[in-house]
Amino acid sequence: MITKTEQFEQQDKEYIANTYGRFNVCFEKGKGSLLWDVDGKEYIDLGSGIGVTAFGVDDAEWSEAVTKQTHALNHISNLYYSLPQIQLAEFLCKATGMKKVFFSNSGAESNECSIKAARKYSHDKYGEGRHVIVTLVNSFHGRTITTLSATGQDVFHQHFFPFTEGFLHTPANDIDAAIEVLTRPDVCAIMMEPIQGEGGVMPLDKEFVQAVTKFAHENDKLVLIDEVQTGNGRTGSFYAYQQFGIEPDIVSTAKGLAGGLPMGATLFNEKTQFVLNAGAHATTFGGNPICAAAANTIVNRLTPEFLDSVKAKGEFVKSMLVGKTGVIGISGMGLMLGIETTVDAKQVIAKCLEKGVVVLSAKNKVRLLPALNIPQEQLEKAITILGEVIAELAHS
Ligand SMILES: *Cc1c(COP(=O)(O)O)cnc(C)c1O
Repeated sequence: MITKTEQFEQQDKEYIANTYGRFNVCFEKGKGSLLWDVDGKEYIDLGSGIGVTAFGVDDAEWSEAVTKQTHALNHISNLYYSLPQIQLAEFLCKATGMKKVFFSNSGAESNECSIKAARKYSHDKYGEGRHVIVTLVNSFHGRTITTLSATGQDVFHQHFFPFTEGFLHTPANDIDAAIEVLTRPDVCAIMMEPIQGEGGVMPLDKEFVQAVTKFAHENDKLVLIDEVQTGNGRTGSFYAYQQFGIEPDIVSTAKGLAGGLPMGATLFNEKTQFVLNAGAHATTFGGNPICAAAANTIVNRLTPEFLDSVKAKGEFVKSMLVGKTGVIGISGMGLMLGIETTVDAKQVIAKCLEKGVVVLSAKNKVRLLPALNIPQEQLEKAITILGEVIAELAHS
């Protein structure tokens, strides 16, 4: 008798494109931060589907709003006004001081929108030849041909030539280098993740972000902040840039925004709010009422008190792991954490899965992106197991 997992593994390998190196687990259901696989095994989830299920699985408020909206109106297109979308946009603007929102369906699309708006801003004002967007080495901005160009990692610049032109990469945290490249007359903007997520949970230096933003603002180069992973409460503030003391021109976000449904958003400030005018950009699904209704239940709960609890849980995880056998260090903010270990992160992940704990990797680190409301006792239990796994592997 083969297990259900083995059966689904065979079918997956037969019919699904081979783009993912999957772990040998097939999840069937969950509740909050607990997951169960098709063979009935229970797990504590510290990955939340890569930072997506911000309030866990089958969260009561989220499920109720989604169910209600499916009965009211599942889709209407952007030819008409849509209440859940309006409510969400107003909330996002009031939470950030940004002025307008464009909704899309993913992180890559939210960045694509930032990129298009930055180029149009510059073209409207300065004409041709000022279209280059600077991004950081080791960044990750998405998988479309254009957002791959934006991504500052050479491994992503293969196979799919020709890539979209007009991107330059500068090292993170090197102020002089960034200012030098921003000085070029063909540059219109810089795009940065406050914490490089896929790049290994590497927070940028506050001084760097501030110096670059100041220089960019003084020279009318736009500052585009990619909050796809860091946004929507993940780091203990509504958006991570708010902890860096800057005011971006454009902010893109996705992952946790709708708590498990596909949704991206691009936010524009005073200066950029009118760049995308009628016909300049569009999407069929963007701002879909079900996704927007779902997102409203997420952002509504990101109160200062709740965000403090996210920070406190992050500090708790650090306090449990710092100085432990096999742990070199922990980076990140709030509940976006990267653990550098003396052992192979891939082995840690596999061993944790065996023991019923779901963790992620980012480069050579073990990455944690638990649901923002993970119960304290589940967090403690899972981190205890993670610590034991790291120590065991370090000893063997
Ligand atoms: C995940 C991610 C993206 C891409 O998002 P998709 O929804 O997969 O298109 C872009 N930027 C950052 C910082 C991300 O973490």
